[in-house]
Amino acid sequence: MAKIDLIVRRAKLDGKEVDIFVSKGKIVEVKKSAETIDAGDAKVEEAFGLTVMASMTDVHVHLREPGFEYKEDVESGLRAAAWGGFSNILCMANTKPVNDDDSVTKLMLEQARKFWPKGPRLFPIGALTKGLKGEELAPMAELAEAGCAAFSNDGVPVKSTELFRRAMEYASDWDKVVIDHCEDPYMGVAAGVNEGVVSSRLGLPAQPDMAEALQVARDVLLAEYLELPIHLAHISCRKSLDLIRFAKERGVKVTAETAPHYLVLTEDYLENEATEYDTNAKVNPPLRTLDDQNAMLEGLNDGTIDCLATDHAPHAAHEKETEFDVAPCGITGLDTALSVTWQLVKDGKLKKEAFTRAWTTAPCEIFKLPVNTFQPGDPADFFLFDEAEEWTVEPQALHSKGKNTPLLGTTLKGRVKTHFIQGKKIV
Ligand SMILES: [Zn+2]
Repeated sequence: MAKIDLIVRRAKLDGKEVDIFVSKGKIVEVKKSAETIDAGDAKVEEAFGLTVMASMTDVHVHLREPGFEYKEDVESGLRAAAWGGFSNILCMANTKPVNDDDSVTKLMLEQARKFWPKGPRLFPIGALTKGLKGEELAPMAELAEAGCAAFSNDGVPVKSTELFRRAMEYASDWDKVVIDHCEDPYMGVAAGVNEGVVSSRLGLPAQPDMAEALQVARDVLLAEYLELPIHLAHISCRKSLDLIRFAKERGVKVTAETAPHYLVLTEDYLENEATEYDTNAKVNPPLRTLDDQNAMLEGLNDGTIDCLATDHAPHAAHEKETEFDVAPCGITGLDTALSVTWQLVKDGKLKKEAFTRAWTTAPCEIFKLPVNTFQPGDPADFFLFDEAEEWTVEPQALHSKGKNTPLLGTTLKGRVKTHFIQGKKIV
């Protein structure tokens, strides 16, 4: 047997108390806790009955470096990831300069290695088009070579279906998946509010759910025609869910994610007396209706929605402290995602299997990333989690530089106490 160098004692895994044996960064064995063990010269970490969970993967994060380091940088973003329970992070290309050049990809990876050499692992997403302008394809071969794990024009969807088709084809030559932010390019673009009764009462420009669904329809038809995979970012409404389900039934290689905020908040938040016009709830796609929220939970539970992803979008306070129509869209999510979604499991709204699939196995399968399922040979990526610890979402409690979340002031349950990546303690 391999020489054991780490033993995590008395951790609760799926309700059972176990000891976890690790060698050279990999899981060797997980077995029922023994009364006493002979640890030899292995490091022993006492879990004292804390829950152990496989590290999670977030395939949709904005780290803002280069260009907007005042909002977030690679160091602070990965810190929030480490404390948030994430071992793999995919970061979007809408930096300044845009990640449409391998020098930008390399810079991101260098910063990650410099500040977080043991992980969380960073996987940049390359731009689909130069400058995200939707006019000319980015040099995908060069970007893939430099380490980009996927391609996306997130935030600025490609208007031309012909160009988007070419992008999907080129990406597949490099065995990479295209991620699309589904939004009709002409309809309530980035309005950040759902079009309906609430937006009318508030008098805010808004975007209807069909603006998202229209683009979902285009993408699944294209994916079927090309027989290529497509991954749909931050799905927010039932109309999109119905289209994805229809496509999956036809065998289309479509996968999709939704974000925690769509599972716990609706457009009504913007009308509540205490939180009226809260720009921290301005997000693209917008918070939708209760029926849409239920649809996202249904979709996660039945597997139509494959993944959870935060769409972590940090902004500085001065940018959000302005009138609603001019504030930027985005919610910061790395710090809160685990507590929020684990609570849904506790409340019986999200199945435990769906939680595990959506945060670990599904994203890693789609983007070919390392994943821990606690089987021998898996990377020893896991964290100890105090399920009972309550904490208040306050600016100083968040590791991210971005404090822009509508959850500010609320009390959440569950905190990461320590996190191992490949058997090395990162926090
Ligand atoms: Zn997006």
